[in-house]
Amino acid sequence: MLQHLIFLRLIFERNVIVMLKEGSKLYSIFNSKCPHCHEGDFFEGSRFKGKVAEKCTVCGEKFSKEPGFYQGSYYVTYAIGVAIFVTLWVACSVLFPEMSIPVLATIIVSGIVLMTPFSYYLSKIIWANFFFHYKPKTKNESASTR
Ligand SMILES: [Zn+2]
Repeated sequence: MLQHLIFLRLIFERNVIVMLKEGSKLYSIFNSKCPHCHEGDFFEGSRFKGKVAEKCTVCGEKFSKEPGFYQGSYYVTYAIGVAIFVTLWVACSVLFPEMSIPVLATIIVSGIVLMTPFSYYLSKIIWANFFFHYKPKTKNESASTR
């Protein structure tokens, strides 16, 4: 039994490492890197301000395809809010089945409010990753820019 658990843990850790490796969209999202080259910074200054840079400092890709491009990220913000709502609701229902509705509502609203800075910047870079695709630099390109 213990060997099975260790084996499952190794598979899980290996897959998580592969998913967060450069070249995957999750790498770009969680490191706030350019969705095109995964090297330049996606945000100007702190990511929590949510100010998207005009273009990538490494590959030169413009981060806005059209005026108001990031208004679509509100759909992603909504989806993140729903995910937080469902997660907290299920967790509270399973862990504390006797919890009253007002207390449950307070916990859920507090959780969504506390996660707002994260969902604000995550929604923008997730939205950008829908439209920009990873294109690694070739050896010639990286040699000429350095
Ligand atoms: Zn780039």
